[in-house]
Amino acid sequence: MVESGAPSFPQPFPAHTIEVAPRPPERPVRNSVGGRPFLDEGQEWPECFCGERLTLFFQLALPPDLGPFGGDHLLLFHCRVHEDATIPEPTDDGRLVPRYWDAPSEGYPAPFWRVLLQRRAVRPSKEAEPLLLTRELVLRPFSDVPDTRGKGAQTFKVGGTPSWAQNPEHYQCACGADLVYVCQVPEDMRFAARSGAPERPEGVADDFHTLFLGNEVYLLACPEHCDPAAVWPVNQN
Ligand SMILES: [Zn+2]
Ligand SMILES: [Zn+2]
Repeated sequence: MVESGAPSFPQPFPAHTIEVAPRPPERPVRNSVGGRPFLDEGQEWPECFCGERLTLFFQLALPPDLGPFGGDHLLLFHCRVHEDATIPEPTDDGRLVPRYWDAPSEGYPAPFWRVLLQRRAVRPSKEAEPLLLTRELVLRPFSDVPDTRGKGAQTFKVGGTPSWAQNPEHYQCACGADLVYVCQVPEDMRFAARSGAPERPEGVADDFHTLFLGNEVYLLACPEHCDPAAVWPVNQN
């Protein structure tokens, strides 16, 4: 964590709530829970270090008013087998380690998640995410007025102000840029599972999936786009 100073990029961006539509979309859409990921040409569906194909939790076409991220396509993948919270391992100078999106952490040989921010996808993958029900996501502008403690609305949103469950966290990308808050997933958000999806470990609900053990997730991204995967998912509860 970089203790000194806030991110240098002007913030906050205009806020948009993200609502999950009750029914599946009639055709592939860019804003969805599950569904067919819009990956760049030739880009493989990302895998976990365990060999499992990562689950596409959601993807979003970011609105044009999100500064350097406007027009980017955001995709969040997470392993169905490995569910844990993230703990960043900054270097001595406070930056995240080189290629932190691939680097070992918390005793794992590599992350069990992948967040992508990119803009060259033109068509959806042939296959849809098999584990989750496909649902369209609808973005609506809203006024995210911070409360007296400077915290924004605790909801699924892009832009606006994070509702930090604990103290705000700031990080520096391995490239040196300050990571910038882009999107928040609220605590314990449930992503509905398809019936007949692979068995879950004992004691785990089989009708929905959560991200990062149900922690609230704040996606901080590199405004320099030094790599499509240069996004850190801060976890708090
Ligand atoms: Zn895994
Ligand atoms: Zn970077």
